[in-house]
Amino acid sequence: MRPFMYSLATDAPEAVRQATVPADAHVRAPVQLMGGGTTLLDLMKLDVMRPDAVIDITPLATARYGNIEASATELRLGALVRMSDAAEDHAVVTDYPVIAQSLGLAASQQLRNMARLGGNALQRTRCSYFRDPSYEQCNKRNPGSGCAAIDGFNRLHAVLGTSEHCIASYPGDFAQALIALDATVEVLGAGGARSIRFADLHRLPGSTPHIETSLAPGEMITAYVVPAGPWTRRSAYIKVRDRESYAFALASVAVALDMDGTMVRSARIALGGVATVPWRAAEAEALLAGKPLDEAAAHKAADAAFAGAKTHEHNAYKVPLGKATLVRALLTTQAMEL
Ligand SMILES: Cc1cc2nc3c(=O)[nH]c(=O)nc-3n(C[C@H](O)[C@H](O)[C@H](O)COP(=O)(O)OP(=O)(O)OC[C@H]3O[C@@H](n4cnc5c(N)ncnc54)[C@H](O)[C@@H]3O)c2cc1C
Repeated sequence: MRPFMYSLATDAPEAVRQATVPADAHVRAPVQLMGGGTTLLDLMKLDVMRPDAVIDITPLATARYGNIEASATELRLGALVRMSDAAEDHAVVTDYPVIAQSLGLAASQQLRNMARLGGNALQRTRCSYFRDPSYEQCNKRNPGSGCAAIDGFNRLHAVLGTSEHCIASYPGDFAQALIALDATVEVLGAGGARSIRFADLHRLPGSTPHIETSLAPGEMITAYVVPAGPWTRRSAYIKVRDRESYAFALASVAVALDMDGTMVRSARIALGGVATVPWRAAEAEALLAGKPLDEAAAHKAADAAFAGAKTHEHNAYKVPLGKATLVRALLTTQAMEL
């Protein structure tokens, strides 16, 4: 591991000011904010990330940055809340189960006790070609070098949102719950505070896979705000993985349904494990709206969700797996007793 300067933040605007150093990509930014460090330190040990300075922002977990606030109109999750605290919070478990389940099914209890919600959404792909600098070809880590995964071992890679420059899948779980529930992200930057739609946080790889988010250098996520609605209670997260715990999703689905009897007033659906970014399944949602939900309708929605899938040598199984996961998530969520 390369030497770096470590400091503890005492003031958010000052931390952001210090971190605001121009960089062509977050992965290469010379100053990194650090939450629990469970992604950042891993990647520094692997020599994928090489910051000169790390600013530990966990001392800022006071007041609103470290709080969960639930009101009649919204749920506000501070960016420095631990994953485990949000997964076990009564209001989150009861009124936003998809959020609690997405966090509770992620990583391990030890990691959930360390990791914070801000860093969680910004975790990086587990693509082994990205995480191993002995491979020169990785457009995400080494722009313009090519993508070793496209002709390599791509069993864990994405089938949606890919480009000829990158097929790395987005690994997190929580982000699917946030995008399905139309969350917004509060951000503090050198120029002040701003709010963006969670759906606009992650960028499709396109021809610039190294630019992963719409955050400017140094910008700090301070909170996520989730609007309340009749769909948040009838919501669930289903995750399928190689082993039952402590593994990333091969396919996952976040669903929130607003039902009138068996009729769907509105469906909110996001897919994980199968796409390059947290993936809203808008085509499936449109097919379900205003119609009764039964197994046939769920299968049609699943077909629509994966109609644009592009597979590679080892990951074609993700299409039937993703569809089956979506069908299960829809029927499970419909059957919830509230
Ligand atoms: C073995 C293992 C298994 C895992 N399994 C899963 C899993 O199944 N599902 C899952 O979802 N996750 C999984 N994870 C990932 C884990 O959830 C993330 O590493 C964690 O949530 C990141 O949070 P952190 O606070 O530790 O982030 P950090 O490592 O501190 O930060 C990550 C990145 O975000 C930036 N950052 C941190 N906080 C902020 C902020 N507030 N504003 C702006 N930038 C910020 C940092 O600069 C860094 O680039 C796993 C991790 C490991 C090591």
